[in-house]
Amino acid sequence: MTGEDLVKCYVCELYIVDGNTYDEHIVLNAMGGRLHSKNLLCRQCAPLFDKIDAQLAKHFNPIANLLNVRRHRGEAQPIRAEVVNTGEEIFLDPGGKPRISKPTIDIKEDNGEASISLTAKNEKQAREVLKGLKRKFPNLDIEKALKQAVKSKFQLDSEVHFSLEVTDDELYRSVCKTAVNFYVYSRREYTCIKHLIPYLKGEQKLSCVQIYSPDYDFFPNFLEKGKVFHNLFVGGNSEERVLYAVVQFFSTFQFLILISDEYDGQDFFDFYFFDLIEVSEYRPDVEITHLPKNLILEILEEKLSASNHFQTCVENLFKLIARKQHFERLISQAIKNAFERHLGEEDSQEFIQSVINEIMEVFLPLIAKQSEILNQQELLEMNHLRFDNSNE
Ligand SMILES: [Zn+2]
Repeated sequence: MTGEDLVKCYVCELYIVDGNTYDEHIVLNAMGGRLHSKNLLCRQCAPLFDKIDAQLAKHFNPIANLLNVRRHRGEAQPIRAEVVNTGEEIFLDPGGKPRISKPTIDIKEDNGEASISLTAKNEKQAREVLKGLKRKFPNLDIEKALKQAVKSKFQLDSEVHFSLEVTDDELYRSVCKTAVNFYVYSRREYTCIKHLIPYLKGEQKLSCVQIYSPDYDFFPNFLEKGKVFHNLFVGGNSEERVLYAVVQFFSTFQFLILISDEYDGQDFFDFYFFDLIEVSEYRPDVEITHLPKNLILEILEEKLSASNHFQTCVENLFKLIARKQHFERLISQAIKNAFERHLGEEDSQEFIQSVINEIMEVFLPLIAKQSEILNQQELLEMNHLRFDNSNE
């Protein structure tokens, strides 16, 4: 290794030498990121960011899990979601399995009369809730109420609204590190990011990261075509002396990072698009104009609410996940069924052929009529009880 090849760790500024190298993932490996480099951090400094990276990974664990993104270890958390037309809160468990999160109770009292609406996942839960309510409303006839209850199927369609809580300071710092990683990786210099190190280490507060949710696609977006990307952008605007980055996870969750507002380097853009489904880098020709500095500062100052476009992305992402999950479940069920049906025939010549035939019988129509079939599968069974009961 010659002197010119030696690189310094951007945190401690010591040369990274053999035995001190660390393979840093620019986008977290836990989120399926594949871009990595040994020229960013030394082995001593890298663990300084384990805690913030863990937060970022934790937030996106459910999505990485649902998409079957390859990850290290760690439990996936259920996703909290809201059914738009009913306002009902549900959980999506790993594998996309929905479950009602808790019973909903709506009590209206008027001149001593009470009317109660209740939604529960089954009779048992409804009974428990009613028992609780009886303490407040002694006239409540539990058995009568349960008889009046209506069972209805719960359909999880596109109208599910969900939000990830992305307000945590540690999560923002890890997002900032992603941007810093990408800048140092693509520009091979770190003088412009030195002032961010205390922030990344948690020694200093800084407002340099914000959710960026404009009403258009900053990055190429193929969610509707069934593709999910992690996207990175870093740009230096020499005229306005601003260095900034946009980081987008899962083609949906986007952040703007102000790296420096005293940028004195060259004008440049760098992109990285990673297709999580194909597990490959995508290299389109991209034309871009810089975000104006005043807009960048405005975004950072105001906590702009998420645009409708963000909701569209979330919905498209979840539709995609639902399709993927159902499809895979059907296939694995078909395989299981076929093997079970031919149990005991394992040593016969026909065994393999009949198993494959059976699987193909399920598989081919699925491929041919994918969307049609998948829409049917989106109907999920969950029983509800609804009733009103007056407290006379
Ligand atoms: Zn170091």
